[in-house]
Amino acid sequence: MGTHTFALAGNPNCGKTTLFNALTGGRQHVGNYPGVTVEKKVGTCSLGGNPSRIVDLPGIYSLTAYSVEEVVARNYLSDERPDAVINIVDASNLERNLYLSCQLMELGVPMVVACNMMDVARSRGLDIDLGKLSRLLGVEVVAIVARNSKGLDELMAAAGRVAAGGASSKRPVLSYGDDIDRALLGMVEIIQEKNFLTATYPARWLALKYLEGDGEVCSQGAAADPEADRALRLQVEETARHLRDTLDTYPEAVIADHRYGFIKAILQQDVVRRQFDASRLYVSDRIDLVLTHRFVGPLVMVAVLLGLYHFTFTYSELPVAWLENVFAWAGDVVDGFLADGPFKSLLMAGIIDGVGGVLGFVPLIMFMFFGIAFLEDSGYLARVAFMLDRVFRMFGLHGSSVMPYIVSGGIAGGCAVPGVLATRTLRSPKERLATLLTAPFMNCGAKLPVLALLIGAFFAEHEAVFLLGLTALAWVMALLVAKVLRHTVLRGEPTPFVMELPPYRFPTFRGLLIHTWEKTWQYVKKAGTVILGISVLLWAMMTYPGLPEGEVARFETDRASVVAAGGEAERVEQRLAAIDGLEAEAALKNSLAGRLGRSLESVSYLAGFDWRTNIALVGGFAAKEVVVSTLGTAYSLGEVDPESGGSLAKTLAADPGWSPVTALALVVFVMFYAPCFVTVVCISREAGSWKWGAFAMAFNTVFAFLFAVGVFQIGSLLYA
Ligand code: GDP
Ligand code: MG
Repeated sequence: MGTHTFALAGNPNCGKTTLFNALTGGRQHVGNYPGVTVEKKVGTCSLGGNPSRIVDLPGIYSLTAYSVEEVVARNYLSDERPDAVINIVDASNLERNLYLSCQLMELGVPMVVACNMMDVARSRGLDIDLGKLSRLLGVEVVAIVARNSKGLDELMAAAGRVAAGGASSKRPVLSYGDDIDRALLGMVEIIQEKNFLTATYPARWLALKYLEGDGEVCSQGAAADPEADRALRLQVEETARHLRDTLDTYPEAVIADHRYGFIKAILQQDVVRRQFDASRLYVSDRIDLVLTHRFVGPLVMVAVLLGLYHFTFTYSELPVAWLENVFAWAGDVVDGFLADGPFKSLLMAGIIDGVGGVLGFVPLIMFMFFGIAFLEDSGYLARVAFMLDRVFRMFGLHGSSVMPYIVSGGIAGGCAVPGVLATRTLRSPKERLATLLTAPFMNCGAKLPVLALLIGAFFAEHEAVFLLGLTALAWVMALLVAKVLRHTVLRGEPTPFVMELPPYRFPTFRGLLIHTWEKTWQYVKKAGTVILGISVLLWAMMTYPGLPEGEVARFETDRASVVAAGGEAERVEQRLAAIDGLEAEAALKNSLAGRLGRSLESVSYLAGFDWRTNIALVGGFAAKEVVVSTLGTAYSLGEVDPESGGSLAKTLAADPGWSPVTALALVVFVMFYAPCFVTVVCISREAGSWKWGAFAMAFNTVFAFLFAVGVFQIGSLLYA
């Protein structure tokens, strides 16, 4: 007998990852399901007699087509046909968890139920009769405590039995009430007669999906056999009309009601007994009385979020500085060992500064993810989403959109790349898209130096107020644009999804480390490769084609004449430096980037941007902090430290081409224009299509430009 493949399926937070890690230890491989960004984890396990492959399916509540995760999970089950499904349920929350079990049963997969968190159930005084549950469900049920690796041998042995013997035949068939049952009979007949998708799905399940109006399955059906598809749709329409007329309801609701009814009926047959007083509040509920309180809750939330930022910035300060030193040192080494020339310039300006700038964020990202993993694993994040859900719904978003906003820089500093990744917690594709398209509006850590530079140069007296105002502006714009998107390109009903609050738990250190590491590595991998390419490209654009020979010769002559004139050594040095500066500016102006900047001037003057600003903005597409360093270069200041920007601020303030109005227009533009390249790549991957990446670039840039033009034109009128 060969190795068996077992798939883990269960609700989010039921302990799937914990079980997966306990079963497979370090022997796991993380990849993606084809075509989507849902993570696919595969590992091997040697418990239960035979070595087996374990596949971790995404956490899901149901097998509808409302979220990518659900579609991925069920496609895996029906296409790959694992030898058995290990369905993990949370023993302390059986009613909700068994909803998925019901659907897995209907899908006809060979399965065993792993009843996890038996320790929690016991401590709550719940006594679960597993034998009875097993008889009523018609599948084997094994008690486990994943966190302490209890019951894993029995579980794997049971899974092995199921895989060897095939599915149990004693499974109950759910009834969905007269109307639906009758429709199901008719539809199953059609399906069997025409052999409609019967190779992939059980007939009854397929009929149910048609009744539920499952877009994914219906379009699959329409493609496979339009005639059968039409016949089924007719039946569905008839049933739907009948239900509407008689009961004022629709098939999907009736089906869900009956599933819950079935579960209730099972649980009420003495499967779960409470050992002590049921009126006693659980610890979680008591904590929630405070943490989700109407007034206290939001205050605590703000404090917790500020705490998260404090934690992140305080603890990452040292390693960030340390990494910066490493890159500075690498720069010095290259500087000392290589002769001046294009290769050295490429290494220093292109690779070390570009890639170093991004990798320098790694410690910060790690601490941030650690903090967020803590909030998530402990169950608090769900409360934050719960509290903000109502506000966000008004804008066509969802409570779970809050965290991506905050991670992207909603409080102060952050990064849209993990922010975009954080949208994975959203179930509805449209709400998720609206969130990931607007999250880059937040003031990420890379925009902050730019804002600091401009505010410092022109509005130094009101720095704090300005920053606060710009933070508020980011949120307002993100919410408003989300609302507009949800009414236009992303129109659609909000997902019928009740936010539920998992019980509070103290996270395990191991779990936190695994979560942190997974996410950090993703960042390093994605950002590292993309940034490398773009840095080199940008460097080349700002370097080539260089000055024509005649010009170079002219600067040489100038230098020679300065040296020949002689005089005080310091003055000579100064004059030579000035000539170097002029040459650098001339070269920049003649470079590809310079030409691009100048040609953009014909439009950008509307917002008050000259060619230098344009180059900086084009560069800022690689990473927003590049705006500062590029402006520095363009104003012949050579290298400008993006963190300080002191002297550049003075230059800008003194420059006749600049005014507070120009600065404000630039601030607005930088805040809202195209997300940086890495973010665009992430948006494209997360949204599943390059079209959305392109949309974000075009839409945000146009939006930012109109906004900046408005600020500049109106400001100029008032200011003049
Ligand atoms: P997933 O979302 O299904 O992958 O859930 P996780 O594996 O991340 O587990 C969620 C939380 O439940 C973590 O804090 C685990 O430590 C905890 N957990 C998992 N299994 C058990 C268990 O059997 N008993 C207890 N008390 N906690 C558990
Ligand atoms: Mg997990």
